[in-house]
Amino acid sequence: MTNCMQKLQNREPLLWRNPEYEDKISACEYSLDDMLDAEARLARFAPLLAQLFEEAAEQFGIIESRLLDIPRLAEKLCPGAKMLLKADHDLPVAGSVKARGGIYNVLCFAETLCLKNGLLQYGDNYRKMANASIRDLFGHYTVSVGSTGNLGLSIGTIAAALGFKARVHMSADAKEWKKQLLRSRGVEVIEYSGDYSSAVAQGRKEAEADPYSYFVDDENSPELFLGYSTAAFRLRDQLRLRGITPDAEHPLFVYLPCGVGGAPGGICFGLKTIFGNAVHCFFAEPVEAPCMTLGLISGKHDKISVYDIGLTNQTLADGLAVGRPSAFVGRIIRNMVSGCFTVKDETLTEYQHITRETEQLKIEASAAAGFAGPEMVLNSDYCKTFGLNPANILHILWTTGGRYLPE
Ligand SMILES: *Cc1c(COP(=O)(O)O)cnc(C)c1O
Repeated sequence: MTNCMQKLQNREPLLWRNPEYEDKISACEYSLDDMLDAEARLARFAPLLAQLFEEAAEQFGIIESRLLDIPRLAEKLCPGAKMLLKADHDLPVAGSVKARGGIYNVLCFAETLCLKNGLLQYGDNYRKMANASIRDLFGHYTVSVGSTGNLGLSIGTIAAALGFKARVHMSADAKEWKKQLLRSRGVEVIEYSGDYSSAVAQGRKEAEADPYSYFVDDENSPELFLGYSTAAFRLRDQLRLRGITPDAEHPLFVYLPCGVGGAPGGICFGLKTIFGNAVHCFFAEPVEAPCMTLGLISGKHDKISVYDIGLTNQTLADGLAVGRPSAFVGRIIRNMVSGCFTVKDETLTEYQHITRETEQLKIEASAAAGFAGPEMVLNSDYCKTFGLNPANILHILWTTGGRYLPE
């Protein structure tokens, strides 16, 4: 463990195997029922989303990404390894993995508000929410969020489209083009000179003072978490279509870029719930911002930050520029995540180029963080520890953002 801490401090890429990982997932406060509930809610909203967003209409309002073959990229990253890419970088409407959790979180709020005011019943066609009476109600409320960019893009876009006032508190890491895109979608963007955690704290404080305000709390939101988890159903179906049925001897190894932990944590929870020990999840972080790795290794979760060990939280991977992890997520996934690894910024840039060259995919730096995973894990004693044959593993790179990335 001290060896890992030293590597973290020295900004040396490292793979940490989670000693608390359990093959059988122990009970936690969420279950398959919660995931099914989330999936059903997304289905109820699908007709409305198809109407609101042209990009979502093609898939009848179900916001989903493709599962891609990447033979040329795989050969560059880890010759011989079987690999697929889950293309969340291309998710419609929000352009990142945040589309899953963020949009879902705002839909939960909208639905609750309508039910409470007697304007909607579960069996209704949710397109009704585009009518004047409901939009008027929404117009009284402000939906806000703190973000390094992509969560703001997701929450802001759906909130504004439904007729809420939308306010996004952006940390200094947020890219200018993301702010501009949001403003063009009718969202108010407030800029901070501080980091992600301080933008979240400011937003939370402001919202507390206003009873007509709803704050999406990236550090503590069960709705975000469960929204992310639905990815597991979609991946299961996409694998089925390919005739792939993972089992303990032929597992999936999934590599997930990690910031505060919500997206990778929710996906990991979903995958473990559905696939059990037929899936192994690894979180990827930049060497300057390994907040979840640090929180898990130390067991301190949000009681420790990357600054405390002398790191800067400065990284090209703006989506992962988080100094302190979510304790809410850390505690849930503590026994589910197989391990974490860290990557240097220059490696991310290199992966972006290779991905463009080999597969013609445009991804942002954060989205490439998982690419180091297959080689790192196969070069470690991980497979030996679990008695796995490396040839039987299907590696899944989860790309998390890039659809609207400017040239
Ligand atoms: C936010 C984000 C992540 C990680 O999600 P967290 O919930 O912050 O852990 C990964 N990739 C991209 C592109 C993101 O925007």
